Amino acid sequence: MNEEKPNSRNIPLPIQREVRQRCGFGCVICGMPLYEYEHMEEWALVKRHIADEITLLCDQHHREKTSGLLPKEQVRRANEKPFNLQEGISKPYLLHFSGEEAIVEIGGNIFSCKDQGYGTAMVPISVDGTPLIGLIIADGHFLLNLVIFNEYNTPILHIKNNQLIFKPLAWDIQLVGTTLTLRENHRKILIEIEFCPPNKVIFKRGRFLRNGIEILVRPTNILITNNSTIIKNCTAVNCYGGLIIGYHEKAIGGFFAMDGISRYLGSNKEALKFEKESLQGSNI
Ligand SMILES: [Zn+2]
Repeated sequence: MNEEKPNSRNIPLPIQREVRQRCGFGCVICGMPLYEYEHMEEWALVKRHIADEITLLCDQHHREKTSGLLPKEQVRRANEKPFNLQEGISKPYLLHFSGEEAIVEIGGNIFSCKDQGYGTAMVPISVDGTPLIGLIIADGHFLLNLVIFNEYNTPILHIKNNQLIFKPLAWDIQLVGTTLTLRENHRKILIEIEFCPPNKVIFKRGRFLRNGIEILVRPTNILITNNSTIIKNCTAVNCYGGLIIGYHEKAIGGFFAMDGISRYLGSNKEALKFEKESLQGSNI
C-alpha cells in the first residue's frame, strides 16, 4: 500500500468508503446523499486522514460549519448518530427529470415512451407484479420509478416519482456526478445507473433481483440467468410492458413476457457459460 504523504489533502479511497459506511452514505446532519468529506478538526491542525476523524456534510451544512453557523459540537453529535442510520432510510433526493418523452437504456436495449395523453406509463421490467422500473409521463412531466432488491429480497433503494431514497444496508452507495453505484462488496456491483436529465436513464451494469429471478445487466446485453435468455439490441417504443417476468394478476402486454420461469437455485454458472459461448467475440 502506498504511504500517504502526511500533507496530502486527498483522502485515500478505502478511508472514504469507511467514512461513507459509518455515516450511512449521507450528510450526518440531514442525510443528503451529496456531500463532502470533512475533517472534524481543522485540517491545518491534524494533517492526517483517520476515518474516525472524518465525517460527511452536504454543501449547505459544510458551509454552515465553515462559517461558524453550525457549531463543531453539533457536527460531532450528528457524527455519532448519523441521520440516515438513525432514520433507517435516507433523506429523499429529488432527481431533475422532466419532459414529454422518457428513455431508459438497459444493457444497450432501449425502452422509450412519449406522452400520449393522460396517464402514459411504461414498465420496462416487472417481476411477479412488482414493477422494478416504471416510467410515468403525467402533464408533460417525466417521473422515474425504480426499486432495487438485494439478495435477501429486501428492497434497499427506491426512486418514487423522481425521489431517490435508500436504506443504508448496502455495502456501499455512492452518487458521484450523475452516476449512482450500489455495491454488495469490493468487486460486486449491485447496480450502476447513470442519470441523464432531463429525460434519460442508463442502467450500465448490475443485477436486478426479485423472488429468485436474476436479471444481469451488462454494458451491451441483458442476461436472465434463470433460463439463459439474452436480450441484446432491442428497442421498445410506446409499449406498456418491457420484460414482464413471472406471474402478474393483471396481464401486462409486453414485447417480452415470460410466465412460469424457474427460480434461482443458487448457481448461475450454466447461464454465464451460455452467455459467454453465445456472445463470443462480441463485447459483453
Ligand atoms: Zn446536510
